[in-house]
Amino acid sequence: MTYSADLGQGQSLTIENVGVQTVITWAHRSAGQQQSQQMSLSLGAWSEPPKLFKNHVGFILQIESARTSYLRLQANGISLLSEVPLMIGTEEIPFQRVTSNPSRMPDMKPLEPLRMGNMSMRMEPMEMNMGNMNLRMATATSHSSSTSHAQFCSQCGTKIKESDRFCSQCGTKLES
Ligand SMILES: [Zn+2]
Repeated sequence: MTYSADLGQGQSLTIENVGVQTVITWAHRSAGQQQSQQMSLSLGAWSEPPKLFKNHVGFILQIESARTSYLRLQANGISLLSEVPLMIGTEEIPFQRVTSNPSRMPDMKPLEPLRMGNMSMRMEPMEMNMGNMNLRMATATSHSSSTSHAQFCSQCGTKIKESDRFCSQCGTKLES
């Protein structure tokens, strides 16, 4: 059994009865961040749906099992009350039964073939990319070798720079 309640101001409470354990998850959502505190208490199997009350200091959770347990939810955390709290001035917040249990197992299963599918899909463009890279590299190599051909003096054969106007060896005027 799982119940959840909207506490307002970006807060939500989810409580779940797993065997004799009562798992309380209090989630706070603020400025895009989600914080949650979880508490698990051995209160026994619920005999009836839990109840939630709001008062001026926080929230009181009432859990009925073999005995009645009260939990206080305040800014500083969740605490189990040793005595029955004052219910005067409290307002009951409705719990909603969560029927479709968001279990993680069915979500995990379709992920595996999907991931494998992505990998096999990715392999083909990777090969394509590698083919393109080889092609591009070959083009670059041929291009650079064609442009960087050395120049030599027409008279003495000394290697000359493109910026040179005269041969450094024989002084022949170079035509650029
Ligand atoms: Zn020369």
